[in-house]
Amino acid sequence: MARCEVCGNDYDKSFRVETAAGTRHTFDSVECAAHVLAPRCDHCSVRIMGHGLEYGGRVFCCAHCASAAGIAGFTDRIAAP
Ligand SMILES: [Zn+2]
Ligand SMILES: [Zn+2]
Repeated sequence: MARCEVCGNDYDKSFRVETAAGTRHTFDSVECAAHVLAPRCDHCSVRIMGHGLEYGGRVFCCAHCASAAGIAGFTDRIAAP
């Protein structure tokens, strides 16, 4: 049993996450892990659960948000051959 650092639940399926930077966390759910670890889009503030798009230290959830923030070059799709 380990207590989730976000909600305090002492749960038998809790898990630990160690980041590359060396910080350690304990969570009872992926939701609680995302609350702490997932970055937020620099434009719309949505929690980024996938890979996201990064430019100059700023992270975006999609090409639309990157372009709305004035960053050109990201695209949602490329032309099929
Ligand atoms: Zn929790
Ligand atoms: Zn966004």
